[in-house]
Amino acid sequence: MNIHEYQARDIFRRHGLPVPEGRVATTAAAAVEHAAALGVPVMVKAQVLTGGRGKAGGVKFCPTLDDVRRQAGAILGMDIKGHRVGQVLVTPAADIAAEFYLGMLVDRRTRRPILIASAAGGVDIEEVARTAPEKIIQRQIDPRYGLLDHEALAVGLALAAGDLGRARQLAAALQKLYVAFMGADASLAEVNPFIFTPQGQGLAIDAKINLDDNALERHPEYEALRDLEAEDASERAAREAGLSFVKLDGNVGCLVNGAGLAMATMDLVQYYGGMPANFLDIGGSSNPEKVVKALSIILADANVEVILFNIFGGITRCDDVAAGIIEATRRLDIRVPIVVRLTGTNEQEARRLLAGTSLVPAETMDEAVKKALELTATKPKNK
Ligand code: GDP
Ligand code: MG
Repeated sequence: MNIHEYQARDIFRRHGLPVPEGRVATTAAAAVEHAAALGVPVMVKAQVLTGGRGKAGGVKFCPTLDDVRRQAGAILGMDIKGHRVGQVLVTPAADIAAEFYLGMLVDRRTRRPILIASAAGGVDIEEVARTAPEKIIQRQIDPRYGLLDHEALAVGLALAAGDLGRARQLAAALQKLYVAFMGADASLAEVNPFIFTPQGQGLAIDAKINLDDNALERHPEYEALRDLEAEDASERAAREAGLSFVKLDGNVGCLVNGAGLAMATMDLVQYYGGMPANFLDIGGSSNPEKVVKALSIILADANVEVILFNIFGGITRCDDVAAGIIEATRRLDIRVPIVVRLTGTNEQEARRLLAGTSLVPAETMDEAVKKALELTATKPKNK
């Protein structure tokens, strides 16, 4: 789960990071009021659940209240990488002498937290990582001990190139960032940029946290951070129905039992030249309610031209699933073809049930995917 910059700033502030004050506005008039209270110059910053806002024109320096009115008006309602801006953060503008990148994430390879930092922070950090990886410092952190003082200071010194004042502030910020990252059960916590003013004061002026969905249970307070408007409507409906669903851009709607099989199905659709419209794991259940819910979520996507069921019956019985699908198709007005591949326990019975219907049966995954693609405008590639 992603949260907004202002929410991540609150979490960082609680952990003692030097975060400038900020106020959120949903109208230009409110933004002007906040700016008047904070004192200009301010930054007006789009609050959207995606990065690269600065480059997209969603972060503006405003020396006067008139600028605030104009810029907030322009940014509110703006589209940034498919996210509509509904809120802006108004925060005092800092003078920047240097920009650093500070981040913590989970390193899957070592299964440990990893610190990532660079003296080349700012909006081009991705480019730096690609073209000059030697400018990025990485340090594994042993979660039994945390980020020790001497480790943090060593990184601070490497970043600050001998400037002890900066090194100490960077080290302290990294330790606080680590504690915030662990305490939040985050998969990523990032300050980019962490800046120094010409007077030498360090400030965290951007904040990003990705929360690990698997830890939400331990943090009931996070539900309040969820931005229901920014969340994709179909993903929300799926979450509420207990389905594991991710919307994608293709035209082949996929309903699969088991996350591994769902991934394999998406791979095969792409292998034959198609594009899945979604990832969906309906789990071990053959409950028609769940199938109806899943189908209606997929059918709400106007791009979907065909639906592909790929079911492996282990404990789940194929005939149960077939009955669920038939029941679901009776209850919904479905205008796209449905290809069904069922294999495993009671597959013969399942096939008998499907025989009298308009559902297109398939025996193997390959056959199912090819049949599905033949029913769309994208013909399968011969592989
Ligand atoms: P992002 O583009 O989504 O990462 O948004 P940021 O909050 O990082 O802002 C983008 C860029 O705008 C930063 O890298 C800074 O160069 C600039 N910026 C942001 N806040 C300030 C500020 O308070 N003062 C100045 N001078 N520039 C800022
Ligand atoms: Mg940034």
